[in-house]
Amino acid sequence: MEIFLKECLEEVRKAGLYRRFRIVHGPQGPSVQLEDPDTGERRDVLLLCSNNYLGLAADPRLRSAAAEASLELGTSAGASRHVSGTMALHERLEQRLARLTGCERAVVFNTGYVANLGTITSLVGPTDAVFSDELNHASIIDACRFSRADTHVFRHRDMKHLDQLLGASTAHNKLIVTDGLFSMAGDLAPLPDIVALARRYRAWTMVDEAHAIGCLGPGGGGAIEHFGLTGQVDVTMGTMGKALGSFGAFVAGSETLIEHLVNRSRMLMFTTALPPAVAAASLAALDIVENEPERRGALRGNAERLRAGFRHLGLSTLESEAHIVPVVIGDAGRTMTFARRLLEEGIFISGIRPPTVPPGTSRLRVAAMATHSAEQITEALQAFQIVHRNVEMGSTPR
Ligand code: PMP
Repeated sequence: MEIFLKECLEEVRKAGLYRRFRIVHGPQGPSVQLEDPDTGERRDVLLLCSNNYLGLAADPRLRSAAAEASLELGTSAGASRHVSGTMALHERLEQRLARLTGCERAVVFNTGYVANLGTITSLVGPTDAVFSDELNHASIIDACRFSRADTHVFRHRDMKHLDQLLGASTAHNKLIVTDGLFSMAGDLAPLPDIVALARRYRAWTMVDEAHAIGCLGPGGGGAIEHFGLTGQVDVTMGTMGKALGSFGAFVAGSETLIEHLVNRSRMLMFTTALPPAVAAASLAALDIVENEPERRGALRGNAERLRAGFRHLGLSTLESEAHIVPVVIGDAGRTMTFARRLLEEGIFISGIRPPTVPPGTSRLRVAAMATHSAEQITEALQAFQIVHRNVEMGSTPR
């Protein structure tokens, strides 16, 4: 096995796609201490690639809530939800998530990956069809495969294509699934058009709000709320490990949908429930999402400054319009060089390469945070200017 695995890894290296973990020391703030994987040295860098969009992962209120829940209730739920693992905190969290999304009911899953898998596989099967945007998250792609439904991938945000595919389908049940805010392109799904097409073809709709929950919409309800579509999407999926600064995920919708998932979803039945500390941190985050809308304003402002700055430098930010700002470099090798040189300037942004994005569209995925200061945004743009000039000219910066 060793030889086989080493050969596999060599292929990954040759394709310029070798990855290794980067170790962060200290809390996940707008800047972090990053360890150099070769020398072990630590240095402070400005963090521009985290999904901790609202800066809540290091918020003292979430830390206290998690610590208090652990002290009071222990460290584990000890069993799955259907055995003895459902604690009052889970119920409270689900009620608050239903309120946030304007749905009748919500149920918590252990991760977003598993929520997509557990939901799609319990909604559709071999006699059904799924219609999935080509840029949907890997967990949706895997869920479609796992469900064994007939999967039709429509071109990114292309409603004519979706219309054609729906029109040609004779499947028993049809499910349209899309990210609300696309994680690698930073653009929004055309949800009003999707909902209209779904009505026309009697299809169901599912929106993955992983990157939008807490950030978009006046109340932080996500892309659905942003478009004024609350109550008009059948299945809302969201995560707590990103803007909510915690961990886990949820699905929200009608009472019947959630009852179905509770009774049918294997990914919910056969896994240990989230620990009390995690549920408590999520609840504390929901208070902040509700009471501090200014965080969403700060996030939007920081993203807009970054986007304007990149465009001024002549860099492509695609059609991004929210807090995820992709800077497309193209070639995977050049993207990694760009990222490495940014790091030399004290800016931490990870390069995104295939298979996460299509070949030739490798990019720096810049993610703004509400807690970045104006000076930090200026610092980031200055670093981009230096590195862009030098990478273009093929020299080493400074
Ligand atoms: N959906 C989307 C759109 C995501 O970006 C992610 C995580 N990157 C997930 C689902 C999975 O969520 P989790 O990290 O909670 O497994």
